[in-house]
Amino acid sequence: MLPLRHQVGCALGCAFCATGRSGFVRNLSPGEIADQVTAVAADFSRRATNVVAMGQGEPFADFDATLAAFRFLNAKDGAGIGARHLTVSTAGIVPGIRRLAEQPEQFTLAVSLHSAVQATRDRLMPGVRRWPLRELRAALADYTERTGRRVTFEYALVACVNDSDAELTALVGFCAGLLCHVNLIPMNPVADSALARSSAEKVARFRHALMAAGTEASVRVERGADIDAACGQLRQRCEGE
Ligand code: SF4
Repeated sequence: MLPLRHQVGCALGCAFCATGRSGFVRNLSPGEIADQVTAVAADFSRRATNVVAMGQGEPFADFDATLAAFRFLNAKDGAGIGARHLTVSTAGIVPGIRRLAEQPEQFTLAVSLHSAVQATRDRLMPGVRRWPLRELRAALADYTERTGRRVTFEYALVACVNDSDAELTALVGFCAGLLCHVNLIPMNPVADSALARSSAEKVARFRHALMAAGTEASVRVERGADIDAACGQLRQRCEGE
C-alpha cells in the first residue's frame, strides 16, 4: 500500500501526529499528488497497485485536487490502478464524505476515528470538531447505503486516552449497524510527545470485543516506525535535529 501526501504539512493538528505539529504549508496540485506514484514506481521498478491518500495532509481539504489525482491514477491511459485500490483517508470532513458518495468511481473510503467519545475526539483531533460524531455517523450511514461500500475506521490506540472500557463501549456502539471495518493501530511513538501506545493486551481486547459485536477488526502491522516514516510520524526535519 503506497501512502500519498496531499499537502505539505497539515492544518488539522491531531494530538498524536508529528505532521500536525509542524503546521500547514500548502496544498499539492493534482499532478504533484499523482507524480508520487510515478516516482515510487520508477525508484522500485514496480507498478503501484494499491494507493492510499494519507500520510501527510487531509485529502478532503482540497477535494477537487484529490479527485483529479485519483481519476488520473485510475485512468487506463494514466496509472491504471483499479478504483477500489485507491483509498481516501479523511480525518472526518463530512462534506467530503458526502461528495465522494456522489462520484461514479468505486474509490475506497477510510476515516480516522480514534475515539467515539466526543470529548476525547475533540482533544485528539481538534481540527474536525466542527463535524461532531453524530454528523459523521449520519454521513457514513448515507455513504454505505448509497454506495454499498464498506468504510474502514482507523483507530490509533493511545494509552489512558482512548483505550478505556468506556471508549471501547462507545466504539462498539458507533460501529453497530454500519458496514465497516476497524483497523486498530498501536500508536507510533512521536518525539517530544507525552502520548504513549496502548499495551498489546488492550489492543487485543478491543479487537475481540468488536469482533464479538459483529464488527470486523484487525490490528495494523506497522512498518517504518523505526525511521519515523510510519503513520502520524511524517514531518520535515532539519539535519542534526
Ligand atoms: S493525522 Fe492526518 S489529519 Fe491529523 S494532523 Fe496528521 S496529517 Fe493532519
